[in-house]
Amino acid sequence: MAKLNVKKGDRVKVIAGKDKGKEGEILRALPSKGRVVVEKVNIVKKAMRPTQQNPQGGISSIEAPINVSNVMLVCPSCKAATRVGHRFKDDGKKVRVCKKCGKDID
Ligand SMILES: [Zn+2]
Repeated sequence: MAKLNVKKGDRVKVIAGKDKGKEGEILRALPSKGRVVVEKVNIVKKAMRPTQQNPQGGISSIEAPINVSNVMLVCPSCKAATRVGHRFKDDGKKVRVCKKCGKDID
């Protein structure tokens, strides 16, 4: 299983593909597929079957997963798209660190 350096709730920047340059929050992470679903990125139209909530059915726009290698984490401290490093805290917990400013991300 691929280990993702990003997780749900992280802000990421798209660095490749049709939505290159966009930023958004990760709505879902799919570690087993190495993919993430990012808010307002890789929008696809999807035909919806009629449901109780939406009796009409019809076309809906949803975010499709993109490959995690196409995004970079946006550091909450320095606001730059950055590579992610790791370090161990005194209590042995592993935290992610920004390679640009060196601050902890978690
Ligand atoms: Zn930073």
